[in-house]
Amino acid sequence: MNRILIKCPNTGKLVYTGFAMDLDTFEASPVEEMDPIECPACHKTHRWKKEDVILERETPTKPKPNP
Ligand SMILES: [Zn+2]
Repeated sequence: MNRILIKCPNTGKLVYTGFAMDLDTFEASPVEEMDPIECPACHKTHRWKKEDVILERETPTKPKPNP
């Protein structure tokens, strides 16, 4: 799974859209325009499209060793 980020046009920061999915799933999605998000960086609402996104590769987490 990858977290889906967009770049805030006001602050330039990468913000998390609240969506996370595999790259293949995302690419195969027929949706071109996504629901607007409330930006955690500037607190405004941003409209975003698939072409705007930055997929954050999730680093695999190691299973915790038993105590
Ligand atoms: Zn913003």
